[in-house]
Amino acid sequence: MATSGGGSYRNGTHRNSLKVDRPFSMNSNPKTSVKSKPLSSSGLRRSSTGSIGAAKDDAGVPGRVRVAVRLRPRNTEELVADADFADCVELQPELKRLKLRKNNWDSDTYEFDEVLTEFASQKRVYEVVAKPVVESVLDGYNGTIMAYGQTGTGKTYTLGRLGEEDTAARGIMVRAMEDILADVSLETDSISVSYLQLYMETIQDLLDPANDNIPIVEDSKTGDVSLPGANLVEIRDQKSFVELLRLGEAHRFAANTKLNTESSRSHAILMVHVKRSVKGKHSALSSEKGSNLHMKTLRPAIVRKGKLVVVDLAGSERIDKSGSEGHTLEEAKSINLSLSALGKCINALAENSVHVPVRDSKLTRLLKDSFGGTARTSLVITIGPSPRHRGETASTIMFGQRVENMLKLKEEFDYKSLSRGLDIQLDKLISEHERQQKAFENEIERITTEAQNRISEVERNYEDALEEERVKYQRDYMESIKKLEEQLVKNQQKHGFEKVPVRSEDDCSALTSNTESSKISAVEEVSELKKLLQKESLLRKAAEEEVNSLKSQLAQWKRSEASGNSEIIKLRKMLEDEALQKEKLEGEIAILHSQLLQISSEADETRRRLDRGGSGKVPGDLDSLFSQVKLQQQEPGNGEKASVAKLFEQVGLQKILSLLESEDSDLRIHAVKVVANLAAEETNQEKIVEAGGLTSLLMLLRSSENETIHRVAAGAIANLAMNETNQELIMGQGGIGLLSITAANAEDPQTLRMVAGAIANLCGNDKLQMKLRGEGGIKALLGMVRCRHPDVLAQVARGIANFAKCESRASMQGTKTGRSLLIEDGALPWIVQNANNEASPIRRHIELALCHLAQHEANAKDMISGGALWELVRISRDCSREDIRTLAHRTLTSCPAFQAEMRRL
Ligand code: ADP
Ligand code: MG
Repeated sequence: MATSGGGSYRNGTHRNSLKVDRPFSMNSNPKTSVKSKPLSSSGLRRSSTGSIGAAKDDAGVPGRVRVAVRLRPRNTEELVADADFADCVELQPELKRLKLRKNNWDSDTYEFDEVLTEFASQKRVYEVVAKPVVESVLDGYNGTIMAYGQTGTGKTYTLGRLGEEDTAARGIMVRAMEDILADVSLETDSISVSYLQLYMETIQDLLDPANDNIPIVEDSKTGDVSLPGANLVEIRDQKSFVELLRLGEAHRFAANTKLNTESSRSHAILMVHVKRSVKGKHSALSSEKGSNLHMKTLRPAIVRKGKLVVVDLAGSERIDKSGSEGHTLEEAKSINLSLSALGKCINALAENSVHVPVRDSKLTRLLKDSFGGTARTSLVITIGPSPRHRGETASTIMFGQRVENMLKLKEEFDYKSLSRGLDIQLDKLISEHERQQKAFENEIERITTEAQNRISEVERNYEDALEEERVKYQRDYMESIKKLEEQLVKNQQKHGFEKVPVRSEDDCSALTSNTESSKISAVEEVSELKKLLQKESLLRKAAEEEVNSLKSQLAQWKRSEASGNSEIIKLRKMLEDEALQKEKLEGEIAILHSQLLQISSEADETRRRLDRGGSGKVPGDLDSLFSQVKLQQQEPGNGEKASVAKLFEQVGLQKILSLLESEDSDLRIHAVKVVANLAAEETNQEKIVEAGGLTSLLMLLRSSENETIHRVAAGAIANLAMNETNQELIMGQGGIGLLSITAANAEDPQTLRMVAGAIANLCGNDKLQMKLRGEGGIKALLGMVRCRHPDVLAQVARGIANFAKCESRASMQGTKTGRSLLIEDGALPWIVQNANNEASPIRRHIELALCHLAQHEANAKDMISGGALWELVRISRDCSREDIRTLAHRTLTSCPAFQAEMRRL
């Protein structure tokens, strides 16, 4: 889709056929009649040797708004403060792509006509952005060059640098005039210039500031827009033009100081009218072709008129709704009005819409004839690198994208494949887990049977041995009995002989010897019995030993069984770890799913946009996503917003919020980061709060001890605290108390910065002043100055300025009397100490705070005794910002107590 479109563009054809088929003009009567020739033939175009690549081809397309993006290099402050952080964007100039980091693991990719890195020279920027437009103006067409971006990102640097001290630094205005002067002949042609400022829907002449409220006049026939009330100065050389720019700039500065505002809030508009007589050129062409020389005199004189408009737009930053930076609501509205009207017109042009709402603002009315139609338009989007301004940078890029009508090159498929990859990984882990469990069970069974076998074997052996012993004893015993019986029989026989009456001689002699021998044999018998007894006891000992060894064997087996058990426990623990890991992966998948769903809904929206554009083709991969989102949308009467909210509610957000309470601390950190990222987008804030996210975040501050969680949660709360309803909710749920405790315990400056930022936002709410102070909000702010980090101090100073501003409003309305609560809470010494702080954000807030405090007489006494009066005097004399200087001066002169004190000294 978008990629192929981009590819064809780089081959020199147009990216978006919609824009080419039917070029639409904001001007209902394009002034084709005065154009001497169409711009279709490149042979007739001025050579643009310096211009680069595709720029000049595509710039020739009428009605097409070319968009370049330019990144400002890091400034000195960012080099220090953001040293540890990556830029919020990554440029791929060769692909003409820009990647906007969403967070550490995710980014969106956008395509532009030109991507200018921080190293791009002013010369290259001119050639890419402006030269094609200037050339077409010299050809008799109108053209517009605009710079859009947050204040401080380089709009004026790109357009308005005079480059007198360094010629390489010359901006687009100066270079455009050089090219124009080089191309025209001052005898026959003329160049005239107006320089204007548009502020709060009023046009003022920067060449004659008394001349304000200039009306816009439109020729109903030609559609030409003009400002007859504005000075039109004829330019004859470069020097006088630079002089004129310098004068305009000085007047712009003075005018803004008088209005007590900053120049970044107004649009500066340079109009260059080029009138050329083209008779001479036509005859030259004719003679080249060998045509009749008489033609020269016959041709009527044609005047070719072109108008170049260069617009240094007001800063695109969202203006604080509470007006704490010194802007009135009226001003905020009108600035937003002209920028958003411009956006709408560009949008209508890009979509080739029939109705282009030029009437909505002065800016678009003024540009009506120089924008769209046959006019060439270049828009340079300026952005800064700081991750702290990611939100503004993102919305600036989105403005550029709207112009392009290009699809954001979302890396949807990465999400899908990532999710798929994780699914596969999970499957693998599950099957591995199952396998291990099975193996483990088998092993246990094997060990158990083996142990049982061994035990029964030992028991059997033991029994056998015992039996054997028993049998042996029995046998021995029987034998002994037998021997004794024999012995007894022998003895009886012996005694029997003695009783036998008839004896031979031999017998008699034998008898005597027998008595002797029977004595001897009795002794032998006793000793034999003794021996037998000894043998018996030896055998018994051996048997006992055998029993002991068997017993020890048994104990050993018992031990090995126990070690088997401990192995079982170990394996069980491993199983639990696996389960935990699985749960974590499931959590991650849930987060990815929620992101996927968000992308799906965006993709669906894109598809609908495409459908509207007539090309209904959607690649197959996205089909399932679309149908998924479609399913969510089927209830009738539900708008797309409701369906996105519903998606969040039903699937994504709830799941993510539930992960905030996960047991796993990694998962918790992960989830709180996702919520913080979502909370950074204004569109998500309401949904997060509705789903109970704010309560969960506050709970994390209370329950968690982890500093990362504190930091990220406080950041998310600070974002949510930009909205008045949320401010009340935060206060209602004891937020100030929790933020104060977090502030008291935090060490990390970034955590303190987030907490201070959140409290500073709450300080800007008129309704919450008393409660905030009553619950220790001011004390908590002042406590954080112990960390000397300038970012933290700047937030503290902003909070004080916000609070002082609300107080001074309340005093003026009569709803507050008595001295400032800031003074009551002891803020004055710190304010005075830092009134001249070298970091400009701190100083600027404190200067404003002092001016607000000084507007209320009840504070005068403390301010005089605390030394604040002298700071005010210093501010009214030396402050580099003229508007603050004037404010301080006005405050000093309107307070009688200050006047009296100054007179006294
Ligand atoms: P803006 O007009 O958008 O408010 P400026 O043009 O005033 O911003 O730029 C803000 C500061 O940044 C100035 O000091 C300017 O010199 C510096 N700056 C802007 N762009 C560049 C750049 N491309 N290279 C160097 N310095 C730059
Ligand atoms: Mg500027």
